[in-house]
Amino acid sequence: MPGLGHLTPSADTQPSARRSLRTRLLLLALLPLGVVLPLLVAVLGWWGGDYFDRLLVTKVRSDLAVAHGYFERVSDGTGRSLAALAESERLARSLRLSPAARDRAINDLLLSIRGEQRLDFLHFVTVDRENREKPQRPAIASALAGSPLTSSEVFSPEELAALSPELAQRAQTPLIATANARPDNRASENRGLVIHAAAPVRDAAGKIVGVLEGGVLLNKNLDFIDRLNAIVYPEGALPFGSAGTATLFLGDVRVATNVRLFAGDRAIGTRVSNAVHGAVLGDGKTWLDRAFVVSDWYVSAYEPLVSGAGERIGMLYVGFLEGPFSGARRQVFAGIALLFGLVMLVAGTLAALWARRVFRPVERMHAAMHAIERGDAHARVGAVGSADELGIVAAHFDRLLDQLQAQTDSLKRWGDSLDGKVAERTAELEQAVTNLKAAQSQLVKNEKLAAIGQLTAGVAHEINNPIAVIQGNLEVLRALLGPQAEPVEPEIKLIHEQVHRIRLIVTKLLQFARPHDYAGYLEPVNAPQLVQDSLLLVRHLLKKGHIAIEQQLDSSRQILCNKSEVQQVIINLLVNAIEAMPSGGLLKLAAEDWDEADMPVGLRLSVSDSGSGIPAKDLERLFQPFFTAKKPGGNGLGLWVSKTLIERYGGRLTAASPPGQGACFTVWLRCEPIE
Ligand code: ADP
Repeated sequence: MPGLGHLTPSADTQPSARRSLRTRLLLLALLPLGVVLPLLVAVLGWWGGDYFDRLLVTKVRSDLAVAHGYFERVSDGTGRSLAALAESERLARSLRLSPAARDRAINDLLLSIRGEQRLDFLHFVTVDRENREKPQRPAIASALAGSPLTSSEVFSPEELAALSPELAQRAQTPLIATANARPDNRASENRGLVIHAAAPVRDAAGKIVGVLEGGVLLNKNLDFIDRLNAIVYPEGALPFGSAGTATLFLGDVRVATNVRLFAGDRAIGTRVSNAVHGAVLGDGKTWLDRAFVVSDWYVSAYEPLVSGAGERIGMLYVGFLEGPFSGARRQVFAGIALLFGLVMLVAGTLAALWARRVFRPVERMHAAMHAIERGDAHARVGAVGSADELGIVAAHFDRLLDQLQAQTDSLKRWGDSLDGKVAERTAELEQAVTNLKAAQSQLVKNEKLAAIGQLTAGVAHEINNPIAVIQGNLEVLRALLGPQAEPVEPEIKLIHEQVHRIRLIVTKLLQFARPHDYAGYLEPVNAPQLVQDSLLLVRHLLKKGHIAIEQQLDSSRQILCNKSEVQQVIINLLVNAIEAMPSGGLLKLAAEDWDEADMPVGLRLSVSDSGSGIPAKDLERLFQPFFTAKKPGGNGLGLWVSKTLIERYGGRLTAASPPGQGACFTVWLRCEPIE
């Protein structure tokens, strides 16, 4: 049996990991961590991503604003320089020259100004009826009306060729097949996207004498687009190695761009996606979103370019590569996820270790209960090394087990003693049943005796009278016969003896049946006195039988009784003893004090002989009426009557017959008779 040491849960006492309280509580504690943290990471990722995207869109919007500003500045600059030239003294002076010299002077002047102002064309248009009446571009119309104006316009190939074959040539852009673009059957875009400016030229009187018309062709104007890109995305403006791009569209065709093709050439001739086409050119909206540009994803901004007549003729685009930003974002989120994962791992490990410590008392209690169930009544939880509630419960549990053990032990002891008591009581009960049976049979016997007594009394009374008559007549017969009676004297004597015997029997029966009629007065008698008087009466029998007498009369106590009755009992015993020793023997008479619990009760008088003794089977029936083993002479009433007499005084008459030692009868007599 293991001692009261610590218990460690064995494999078979362990609940399955899934059902263990520790696991379930651990899951309960870790669930928020396991669910909330990933959720937090996801929300953070989603929210951060969205915020990041909005930041990118905000940036590209401001980029577009810068690009728009630059485009306006170039456009306005063209218009202003034209207006300044129109009002310049140099032009006025040339106009005042003779018509022959004037054209050459103006041409020279405009040629030099065109070079200075980087204009692709510049010329003077005289005002005549034809000019005034034919439909003009908005800038010309405005200038003719007196106001300078600059606008973006689309020039047909013919118009460009009229201005300069070189411009028409430059404007020719073969279309490159582009994925997602709106279908277009044309092989090339030959129109020109032009910043078109016009300013009125007045004479000294203020009358409009002509219009200065000039402009810049934007198709393949790499200088313009590169400067625009450098202003919007100067060196180092974009982090993570992203690259900025800018493009001018004529319709949906890239006519000036720094976006590169796969081969590294500029993507001039490629076209915008159908989605952007519809939103910007179709609906006139500004597009701010990611877009797939030629070969990569860009964070993009498109706005429509509107002509002087209000038509959407092209688009201005700026954007930067999205990839580096997405990469940076992915890295950040991966870092955050990794951090959360690490936190989860550390927190989970710590929680598991902690839960193990917290639940140690519970597991030990479980193991103790299991051990007790298997029969190890001395199994205990032991010291669990924790002072919290579970530790206190474990200690309490041990105390309860101790109490339970003590109670079980005492119950066991009590059970054992109960068994003993039950056995004792059963024996007592059996004894009581035996006593009851004895009492019952005694009762039956008493009733029988009472009936016999009544019968006997009646019979004896009826016999007494005929006996008296027989005895009387026998005496009369003897007297009448006189000497003649001598020959029959033995017969007369026999009749006389037998009649006497009948009388004796009847007397004894009456003594039993009506004791009160025979009870005399009580007197104090001692043992020697009783023995001597009785011996005297059986003297003749003793002499006949060669019987020696031994007396040991040690009691000097006196008893109160009817002397003749008690003497009759002693004589009866003496006669029986003498008859038991027909060929002589030793007759012992003894008297001793009868004490009980150191208190004097009376005396015991015993009569022993050295005869043949009494067989064991006869000892039980000895005191029953009419039991006799003496075939001819006995009537079997002597011992019965003697016992009845002695018991009437509260005494006893007992018989014993040790094998080979004859018989011994003892009379127990009280000092004072009890009723
Ligand atoms: P009775 O003497 O008339 O037979 P008792 O009642 O006196 O009647 O005795 C009953 C019987 O008990 C006797 O018949 C005898 O067998 C037996 N008995 C009595 N006393 C002795 C004795 N001392 N030794 C042997 N047997 C005895």
